[in-house]
Amino acid sequence: MARGPEDRYYEFAEQGWLPPQEARSYVCGWCGRTVSSQLGMGKSELRIESSPLAPLGVPNQFSRDVRVCTHCACATTFIEHNQLPGPLPGEHFEAKGKGEHVELIATLYNEARFALRDGAASCATLMFRKLLMHVAVEQGAKPGLKFVQYVEHLKDEGVVGKPQHGLLTRIKDAGNLENHEVRRASPQEARDLLDLTSLLIRSVYFAA
Ligand SMILES: [Zn+2]
Repeated sequence: MARGPEDRYYEFAEQGWLPPQEARSYVCGWCGRTVSSQLGMGKSELRIESSPLAPLGVPNQFSRDVRVCTHCACATTFIEHNQLPGPLPGEHFEAKGKGEHVELIATLYNEARFALRDGAASCATLMFRKLLMHVAVEQGAKPGLKFVQYVEHLKDEGVVGKPQHGLLTRIKDAGNLENHEVRRASPQEARDLLDLTSLLIRSVYFAA
């Protein structure tokens, strides 16, 4: 008799893979939403790990947990407390139905978030700067200015409010270091730009 999916299920269970007992909340690394998912498979086992201090080994609980996102249906794996892929940094914007232009801005912003999550801070920084300059031009700045001049414009025109002026100054100072040589952006610089870009996107395209 042909084996059905139920038989396969028992095979998994025999190997220790079981449906989760409770929902798990996490920020999905694919769609960026905070979800609570009960759908998935997990396995927990005792492993004996030896070290120079414990040559006979110490028993350690080792767990793997795969969850399916309730929103985008993509899977995320948790190995102990590590989440793969890791949570997407920054705010999520729902751009569907907001028009082609806003959808493009949100798509480029998301690409930069993926780059930042995967350790490509320099790639993310270039894209955030590009978006920042683009929004500044849409907010009345002249095209063709230097990056730091666009940052000034956002400050002078009040596009970015006073509580964020410290953030603007840090971004401007980092921009001032720029010359025509290539250099790596620090994760802090990329995070600052992520904060500023999301603030701009929210206030310019998503204000109520
Ligand atoms: Zn998702």
